[in-house]
Amino acid sequence: MNDCIFCKIVRAEIPSKKVYEDDEVLAFHDINPQAPVHFMLIPKKHIASLADASGEDAGVLGRMLALSGQLAREQGSRDGFRTIINTGRVGQQDVMHLHMHVLGGPDPLGRMLSRNREPGKAA
Ligand code: AMP
Ligand code: ZN
Repeated sequence: MNDCIFCKIVRAEIPSKKVYEDDEVLAFHDINPQAPVHFMLIPKKHIASLADASGEDAGVLGRMLALSGQLAREQGSRDGFRTIINTGRVGQQDVMHLHMHVLGGPDPLGRMLSRNREPGKAA
């Protein structure tokens, strides 16, 4: 995808702070970190969102999950971490190239969603 920002990162047309790279997967630090450890794992192939993934993407998606623990530990999140894949309008996905956030650090994160939000209203 020519105008996709994460495809541009894959092609090194936009700089990134790389965490890991192989033939299928790229990991890089989030430009606006929400936790002491915050990086993203993406398939190099353009898949717009998890809602657009199909059976042929199962391998690369599985590899992203399987890599997350090792990379999180290497980045300093040694006692667990959180993965988030925001999907589409309801998931408030901003960048339409499937990405898995990995968030962590030395201390527990806040709750994933606030507990007392009303159904249908933003957290
Ligand atoms: P999402 O809301 O899940 O689509 O998250 C998009 C994420 O991409 C945000 O956390 C942004 O900070 C991050 N982001 C946007 N542009 C860049 C970039 N050029 N390099 C690294 N992270 C980026
Ligand atoms: Zn893309």
